[in-house]
Amino acid sequence: MNPNPQTLQAASWPTNPFADPFPVEKAGWGMGKKEILIAFRFLVFLAVLVLLFFKDKVGEPFFSPKMLTLLTLYFLSIAGMPALKAATVENNSLLSAIFLADTLFVSVGIYLGGVTDVNLFLIFFTTIFISALSQDVKSVFAIAIVSCSLYAFLQMKATGQAFTSDTEVLVRFPFLFVAASLSGYLAMETKKQKEAHHRLMGMNQILAKQADTSSQKLVETNRKLKALLEYHHCVLASIKTGIMVVRKDGKVRTFNSGARQITGIVEAEVAEKSLEELPESLRMVGDALRRTLEEGKSFVQDHLELKTVRMELIPVTLETSLLRGGNGEVIGAIATFKDMTLLRQMETQLLRSERFVALGEMAAGVAHEIKNPLNAIMGFSKRLSNKLEDPALKKYADIIASEVARIDGIVNEVLDYSRPDQIHPESADINQIMAETIQFLNEKWESAGLTLEQSLSPLLPTVPLDIPKIRQVALNLILNAVQATPTGGKIVIKTRLIEGLVPEAVGGKGEGALFQQLFLQQKMISVSITDTGCGITKENLGKLFHPFFTTKITGTGLGLSICQKIIAAHKGTLDVESELGKGSTFTFYLPLGEE
Ligand code: ADP
Repeated sequence: MNPNPQTLQAASWPTNPFADPFPVEKAGWGMGKKEILIAFRFLVFLAVLVLLFFKDKVGEPFFSPKMLTLLTLYFLSIAGMPALKAATVENNSLLSAIFLADTLFVSVGIYLGGVTDVNLFLIFFTTIFISALSQDVKSVFAIAIVSCSLYAFLQMKATGQAFTSDTEVLVRFPFLFVAASLSGYLAMETKKQKEAHHRLMGMNQILAKQADTSSQKLVETNRKLKALLEYHHCVLASIKTGIMVVRKDGKVRTFNSGARQITGIVEAEVAEKSLEELPESLRMVGDALRRTLEEGKSFVQDHLELKTVRMELIPVTLETSLLRGGNGEVIGAIATFKDMTLLRQMETQLLRSERFVALGEMAAGVAHEIKNPLNAIMGFSKRLSNKLEDPALKKYADIIASEVARIDGIVNEVLDYSRPDQIHPESADINQIMAETIQFLNEKWESAGLTLEQSLSPLLPTVPLDIPKIRQVALNLILNAVQATPTGGKIVIKTRLIEGLVPEAVGGKGEGALFQQLFLQQKMISVSITDTGCGITKENLGKLFHPFFTTKITGTGLGLSICQKIIAAHKGTLDVESELGKGSTFTFYLPLGEE
């Protein structure tokens, strides 16, 4: 599995993907309809003015009050136009009224100026072209009709005849309509194009909006997907159970950190590998997955042992099942495997302690029965020794007495071991107990030629302890250390206050290690006795706390079992670390209890 789940990249949409790539610039140097209309009308005004001015030059009076009023009114109608709103200019009725007024102005101006004899025909074209601004062919034609009528009226006034037969004049009328048709048609086309452009722009905007929303949704979905993948990754990484997922083609898709912790194999070693290519230590898991894929069945295998890359055998429970997709089709297979070491250890411990309880009860019964005859033998052998004169025979009687005393000692230890774990705690200073024990044994290591090093922490609080029993533990552990260490060796006794879990370095793989794992965050006192003695073999390390296990000729093998029982009765643990030929460290931990 890829440790960094691939994330989908959001498509990099432009802000507006449908924006017009070739925007149409505003026609006429940025002039709108209103400005064009003003300009055209002003041109008409100027044209009429120039025409009349030249007529004036001829010598005839021109600027009559009527004419001036007309010109002023027309000029004002142009000057007032900038105040009009752009929307008002779009109103076709208003535009038609303006065009009509312009045509009338032209005609009346010519009429009042008396310039009908001048060829004014062309000036009507200007009004027709201007009317094309309305982009309405009907109004252009209406203006053409009005223009024709007024031109006819002016002709009539000029010639004094109701009808003219002058072909030069007659031919001008259809020209006006041709101009109206052409400009009207062009205006309509422009309007259509404009409308189409507007529609396109509108659609463009809608599509752009939709695209924006879609890209936002895509980014949001992407974000959610990423968060989901991260969550999924965290869940897989936090599970202590080993999880291995293969796809339908048998290639490894997921190998979580739980699986790594159990097997010691890292994800990169197996990712995308087929079941045949898996490392030896995963062969068993691979086989189970293959069977599941082939037979479509789930398998549960208990009491399996998985060999790790560290060549350790880890007891596991393996389960495999088919992995199905959302629509129920098989997309692969999944294997989960749990490390059962702790459970198996507990099972063994429980079994052993049950056996020991039975053994202890039996031993206690036997010891009790032995005790009375032993006392009798002891008493009679002493009396015999007193009565005998022959020194050789007297010596035999003494040997009987001392051997019986030894048997009595063993019997006492058996009884001690089998007694209920009752303790009578009182507030005690562990440093004081240790110092007294060291003092008591002073002669022992001096005669054995050993050096003693003490490191008793001054920070230790008093703890509820059964003083004689803890003294018995200290005595036994120190005596064992003295017996295991050859002349010139060293014994180190340390007391410390520790907090939290028992540090891994102190914990051994011995019997005590199991109990040690049950210690959670709490304060405790640790007392360790380290020697530079012979050390203990790995094999013996496992049996050390078994009753009657001893490697000494005169040993009972009950010392450590009794020590462990006493420490357990104080809710503490006894642990051992040892290296063959280098020495051993026995440590007992005593919890501080409720503070
Ligand atoms: P005993 O002392 O009667 O043999 P114990 O239960 O005290 O009984 O000890 C059991 C065995 O553990 C010893 O026989 C010895 O082999 C081993 N042992 C205990 N303490 C040490 C030590 N400090 N160094 C090496 N071996 C030890």
